[in-house]
Order: sequence, then C-alpha cells, then structure tokens
Amino acid sequence: MNSQAYKNWHFNIDDAQIAWLHFDNANSKVNILHTTAVKELNDIVDEIKNNKPKALVILSDKSSAFCMGADIHEFADNTDLEAIKAHVMLGQSVMQKINDLPFPSIALIHGFCLGGGLELALACRYRIAQENALLGLPEVRLGIEPAWGGSVRLPSLIHPLKALNMILTGGMVKAILAKKMGLVDAVVPQRQRINAARYIALNGVKRHKQLGHFLASISFIRNIAAFFIHEQVLKKANPAHYPAPYQIIENWQKFGAKGSAAYQAEVDGFMHLLKGETAKNLVRIFLLQEELKSVAKKVDEKITRVHVIGAGTMGADIAIWCMQKGLNVSLQDKTVEALNHAMMRAHELCQDKRLLDKLIPDVNGDGIAHADLIIEAVFEDLTVKQAVFNEIKQKMKDNAIVASNTSSISLTEFPYPIVGIHFFNPVGKMQLVEVVHTDKLPAEITERALAFVHQIGKLPIKVKNCPGFLVNRTVAPYLFESVLMLEEGMPVEQLDKIATDFGMVMGPGMMVDLIGLDICLAAMKNLGATPPQILLNKIEHRHFGKKNGEGFYTYANGKPIKIKPNFDESVNNQEVIERILLPLINECVACLGEGIVDSTDIIDAALIFGAGFAPYIGGPMQYAKTIGYDKIFEKLKAYEQKYGSRFTPKPGWDLLIKL
Ligand code: NAD
Repeated sequence: MNSQAYKNWHFNIDDAQIAWLHFDNANSKVNILHTTAVKELNDIVDEIKNNKPKALVILSDKSSAFCMGADIHEFADNTDLEAIKAHVMLGQSVMQKINDLPFPSIALIHGFCLGGGLELALACRYRIAQENALLGLPEVRLGIEPAWGGSVRLPSLIHPLKALNMILTGGMVKAILAKKMGLVDAVVPQRQRINAARYIALNGVKRHKQLGHFLASISFIRNIAAFFIHEQVLKKANPAHYPAPYQIIENWQKFGAKGSAAYQAEVDGFMHLLKGETAKNLVRIFLLQEELKSVAKKVDEKITRVHVIGAGTMGADIAIWCMQKGLNVSLQDKTVEALNHAMMRAHELCQDKRLLDKLIPDVNGDGIAHADLIIEAVFEDLTVKQAVFNEIKQKMKDNAIVASNTSSISLTEFPYPIVGIHFFNPVGKMQLVEVVHTDKLPAEITERALAFVHQIGKLPIKVKNCPGFLVNRTVAPYLFESVLMLEEGMPVEQLDKIATDFGMVMGPGMMVDLIGLDICLAAMKNLGATPPQILLNKIEHRHFGKKNGEGFYTYANGKPIKIKPNFDESVNNQEVIERILLPLINECVACLGEGIVDSTDIIDAALIFGAGFAPYIGGPMQYAKTIGYDKIFEKLKAYEQKYGSRFTPKPGWDLLIKL
C-alpha cells in the first residue's frame, strides 16, 4: 500500500503489517522539520493510524542523518510570533499523537538526530540507533529551549539529572553512550538495522524503571536538585546574558517531567526566550556560521595529503588536527626533538589510535612532493620563511596549494603568491581559521583553501591581506587599551571581572597572559603602536605570561593564583567597557572600509569564534548597531577629546552612517 503524495514523507505497509514511514525532505540533502514537514507529518500519522498497522517505524532516507531538527530560519525572523507559536504547538501535538499511537512506534536513527529530530524520536515508544548516531538537544546553544516535548520526555526516559545535563549543555551523545543512558534501546550496525527494527516492532524490548524517576517525581527533592544544578550553571553562564538554562531548570523544578502543565511551560518558556535579544543574536550567529560553511563548500575536490613544516606549538597541532580528520599528514621540522614531541602529543590527543598511522614524521621534507597542500608554520621570521618557501617550490607537485600560518608577516613579502591559512591557538579548541588572500593569488587557490578549512571541520572566513589580518588587527587595540588601564593602576582582576561580567569569554588581562606578553609586544610594534611601559617592564623581568608562570597574573600548575585585591570602587564600569570596545569597533570599521572583509556579519563571526567576543551580544558590530552606529561614532569623538588620537574615528564609518 502506498501513501498519497507528500513532499517530505512517504510510507508503505509490509507483509508483517509494519508501517515504514520514510522522512525525505524534498530538494534537500538533510531532513529538517520545517513547517510543511510538520504539517505533513500530522496528516500522514493520521493516515497510518487509520490503516491499523501492527507497528510504525520512522526512518530517514538521507545518507547522513536522521533529522537535523527544526528549521532555524523560521525562528530567525521573529516578527510573526503568533505564526511561530502555532508551529510550535502543532509540532508538540504531532509528537503527542505519535506518543499516543495504539501500536508500538520505533525511531530508527542514523547519523545526526538533533533538536526536533530527537524530540520526534523521543515521542516514539522505542529508539534504535545505528553505531554512527549522534543524539542531542542543542536548543540552549541558540538561547532557546526544546518545545516539542523534549524537555519533558527526556527526563522521564533517562535519569533526570543526565537528561538535564544534556539539555543544559546542548551537547551530543554517541550511540553507545545513549544506550548506556537508556536513551536508545539498541545499537546496531547498519546492515542489521532493518531486521532489528522489524524484531522490536513485533516483540518490543524490556526497559528498566529508574529510581531517579521516582525521586524526581517528589517536588521537595526536585527543589533541592534544582538548587544545586542552578549553582553549577551559575559558574558557567550569567543569567542576565544567557537566560535559557535557568528557564529550563525552573520549568523542571516546577512541573517535573510529566503532565500538561510541563508541556505548556515548555512552549511558554520557548516563546519568552525567543523574544529576547540573546536568542536573536545566537540564532543569527548560528545562521551566519552555516552561511560561511556553505560558501566554503563550493569546491568538490578534496585534500587528501597535507605536509606541515614546523612542528612547534602551531604546526604540531595543525598536523594532529588534520590527521584526526582522516587526512594523510607528513610533519617536517629541522629538529628531531620537535618531531618527537609532536608525535608524543599526537599519542596523547588522539583517541582513535588507528589514526596515528596517518601522521608521518619527515625530517627531510620528502612529503612535500606528494602533498595536495603544504602548510608552513616555522618561526615568525621572514628570512627563515622565505628559505622554506624556496625549498617547497623545488619539491612540490603541480597544482599543490602552498599556505602560511604566519600571524603577522604580510603575504606580499613571500617569494611567490601564497595563501594564508591562519589557525588560532589552541588549534584543537579554536573554531575559526582566517583564509588570507592577496591580489596576486589566483581566486581558485583561495576557494580551495576555504574548502579545505571547511573539510577539516573549522570555520573559514575570507580575509584580504593586511597587517594582523582581521582578528589580530582588531583585537590589538582592545588589548592595548586594556594594558594602558593596568598601567594606570587598575587591578587586573577588576578589569577582567568587568569584561567577563559584560560577557567576554575571557578577560583581556588573562588573554594577554595566554597569548604571551612578548608576542603582544611584537604585535603592537608590528601594528605601529608604542607599547605601554608596564608591558616593557614585565618583559624586562621575563614575565612572559602563562607560558612561564608570570604575567599580569602569577600561575601555579598552569592556573592563575586567585587573589582578591582591593577593587577601585570609583571606577565607572561602563566607561571601562567603552574604552576597550570602542578602539576594537573602530578598527573593525577600518577593515570594512579597506575591504579586508566583505560584511559586518563576517566581522562578528570572526570576533566571536576567533577572539571570544561575547556571543550573546552577537559580535562587536551587532553591539554597535544595537547602540546605534551614529552614537558609537559620537562616543569615539568624545573619547578622542579625553584620551587622544587612538580614539579618532577611522575611515570607513561613512559606509555605516551619513557623515
Ligand atoms: P614555534 O616556535 O613553537 O615552532 C616553530 C617550529 O618551527 C620549531 O619547532 C622549529 O624547530 C621549526 N622550524 C624553524 N625553522 C625551520 C625550518 N627551516 N625547517 C623546519 N622547521 C623549522 O612557533 P609557533 O608558535 O608554532 O608559530 C609558528 C607560526 O605560526 C608562526 O608563523 C606564528 O606567527 C604562527 N602562529 C602562532 C600562533 C601562536 O599562538 N603561537 C598563533 C597563530 C599563528
């Protein structure tokens, strides 16, 4: 029997009277539960129910995933809140309809099963995961909460504390862990998935009731648990900036994990959060990330062999990252010690030891001849780098890409056109990579470099060559002003607290220590600034920052020793924020004016993912836009009067306001 024509779903009922409902979004490589797909699901579930099958199996026809969740675009423009609410309510009621089916329902999951996709799976009686499945409710990362029953059904299925942890972090769990948690009932290899679904459809599986559910049903116990969870979350997220986790905890505390009030609270919470600035900014940043990835997807040809020269801090980690992404990597250094150290680090970092075969130490640089991409990451010294590029030219194959990881040398100084592939430190943690191009570089090389960065799971942004590129250039004045304030006598703890209270991921004092005071000094000089005396003094005393245990903070075992100095109560926090942010925004505008990047969106993404700019604000340019570009411009002029020419508005403001 065949279903009537739906655009996103189709079903058939087999000889064993099992209905197989295939999710297959039209004109898309992945499945998304957009409005049409949810409406169709509502109808097709009715149709299947009328057929009275023995069981229902829901599966995806897409190769990479079960379902990526709801369509974020539909929430991005939150002007029609009534329409959004209607969509949310319909989604919730469809899930309930599946939940209430009089026969067993099974979600047969492979690949990503996220957000609304997992909520669909949770509405089923059973879940079978293929070994490659990844399950999660990432809504909190967008500043919202699950609203199709996920925040109610998950804590009623698995241990409530584990469920809350999953919802509050928005992280994904792999199939094996999901089985241990009771989130899925079976994990099977791909070849057995249909048989497994058929067996469970007809025979079911036993599930053990957990003591945690009984305890969590007692409101007094929920109150105590919620208090402790709240305290834990407070250490990570300021409720004024990130309200979603607190809303989720409150709903669970008040209503637990069953009953219509819990489902209603979920919808109300979602709508309330969606109206806030945080959700608006986080959703925008998410979509921006997707856009940057899609720009980089254009090139089909994949890089399979990479040769990295320089096995120091950056080169070793770049090589290890590429190896972990399945590429064949040769790693060259002039010292065997550096290579040994890199190989030991690879052993430490790499969980799948089979991948280690893909990383080959290469003292002589033999790998250059076979590589599709050669990345130079030797000392930041022009003469050394020039010699390396000359060696590469002799040995490389035609059509290979030659790239540099330099952070401050202009690409035009190199002997032939080279693309910048500028990773951030630490490579394993920082998502952003700047792909830097010059006028002489063929556009096709830039495209391939962008595609490579996307291929290895990083976020690429295209930047035109200039001193410091985009991120270092714009962060330098922010750090410079911060160091000046430290020189004026503000305790570093106070400065960092003001910045982190504002929402920066890390305070500027801590950031200077992490980068290294010597590196900051070099960067300031390269960018033409006169370094503050306090920085010179610290360096004279060999206080280089975290790396040698002394900087603006003192470190023990790699952690800053926390002291509570007397804060200067007369400090105006707003002025501190403006003093550090205005020069950064001014430099961003200068980059826009010079065409270093194409849009304010790219600047925001770069500063959030490359420098830890407060994500809930949506980036420095979004901050400026929210306050008003004209007001920021006026503030710059006022600060220029008070503090001098480092606040003078730079060319480029005319692109944003009428001057
Ligand atoms: P590093 O000093 O830790 O490592 C450099 C390595 O290059 C050393 O192991 C050295 O033995 C090797 N080397 C030097 N000359 C060589 C040659 N001719 N042939 C082969 N190997 C040679 O330096 P790093 O911090 O990894 O920086 C490397 C590059 O990355 C620099 O251009 C730097 O500007 C850039 N970068 C650094 C950071 C950072 O935070 N450290 C961040 C982004 C970019």
